[in-house]
Amino acid sequence: MEIQTPRGVFDILPEEQKYWRFLLNIIENTLSSFGFQKIDLPLFEYNFIFEKGIGEGTDVVQKEMFYLSRKDEEEKELVLRPESTAQIARAYIEHGMHTWPSPVKLYYFGPMFRYDRPQKGRFRQFYQFGYEILGAPDSFTDAFLIGLTWEIYKKLNLSNLIIEINSLGCKNCRTKMEKMIVEYFKREKFLLCPDCQIRLSKNPLRILDCKNEKCQPLLESAPALLDCLCDSCREHFKNTLEYLDDLAIPYDLNPKLVRGLDYYTKTTFEIVKKGEKARMSALGGGGRYDDLVELLGGRPTPAIGFAGGIERIIEKIKEEKVEVPKLLGPEIFLVQLGELARRKSLPLLFNLWKAGFKITLALNKESLKSQLKEADKTKVKFALIYGQREALDKTIIVRNMVEGIQETIELEKLGDYLKKKMEEK
Ligand code: AMP
Repeated sequence: MEIQTPRGVFDILPEEQKYWRFLLNIIENTLSSFGFQKIDLPLFEYNFIFEKGIGEGTDVVQKEMFYLSRKDEEEKELVLRPESTAQIARAYIEHGMHTWPSPVKLYYFGPMFRYDRPQKGRFRQFYQFGYEILGAPDSFTDAFLIGLTWEIYKKLNLSNLIIEINSLGCKNCRTKMEKMIVEYFKREKFLLCPDCQIRLSKNPLRILDCKNEKCQPLLESAPALLDCLCDSCREHFKNTLEYLDDLAIPYDLNPKLVRGLDYYTKTTFEIVKKGEKARMSALGGGGRYDDLVELLGGRPTPAIGFAGGIERIIEKIKEEKVEVPKLLGPEIFLVQLGELARRKSLPLLFNLWKAGFKITLALNKESLKSQLKEADKTKVKFALIYGQREALDKTIIVRNMVEGIQETIELEKLGDYLKKKMEEK
């Protein structure tokens, strides 16, 4: 047995954490300031939530689901979640959120699982943050949610971002779209990959989402779905775009953007780097899903949401060398020498910590030199040197690690002294 993670999953090591913290701070601050409330959802659910919600004909449900194998009947139906929007719809129904002040605005963060072929930007466990507005039908809400998305990504300081946008219309438009797509592809059926040949009869719009090289030439010249929109869906889309114009958000119409999940209606969008293909490298995507809650057994609840891929965003942050704040570590290091000082050092450490100082000490080093070396590596501003003499005299030496100067201070006055020194910095 090799000691390593399974394919497609990875550890997030301490040196990576500053990127995650940076992102999460932006996400949580922005969303809570706009009145979204956080929801934590379980990592596994009954399969039918996704099968019904995402759609049986999708790659996610057909190929990418992780089943939890248990012998008892009920547990057989459990899967690791591949995404959270269907879970949100389930939670909305289960907790009677239609009685909450409307619309309900929720956000989440956590790992998702898809049994995909691991490659650049595509993992088997990956993290998403997402947000949903349930109970709001108008294009005004679409523009608010896209605007909010734009503001979050702008705060990440990434360059050349753009929104790709499309509309999938309502059920009636979708029937027309499917007919048009079948008409177009059926003549060239044998130029499609084997999966798309099946999709042609089962779920034709999914062909537009195919990643197989074989299908790309045909996809290039496929007819635009927007031509099938009914008057009301066209109006909704037009209004959404006008609101985006008012916000000066750059967008490209992408008439083939169907997204990988069946629940989408009307507006769909992705956020991408200009020039990179949305299908392969989107930094996030979302759209309206006006029928999902009803499909899962709830009342008709028009809704819209978005999910962003954390790993892909962090990859871009690194590629573009965006400055992210360092995580705050200790500012003071307590060095102790000799038995008496050692005995007194732990109470001293915790008292200083309780007084609000960020302080640490060496656990398995004894000499002054090795402890000061560790203090230096920890990049603290001050080292406190506490030896036999100081322990007897009730004093301590405060060493300024940047300037290399040190002073002996009475232990009683240490708190005030450090506070003053910290404020000077
Ligand atoms: P989706 O839930 O498929 O709409 O995906 C939303 C976002 O999650 C995508 O735009 C990606 O940024 C990210 N994402 C989706 N699948 C993966 C994956 N297998 N590995 C890493 N990130 C992913």
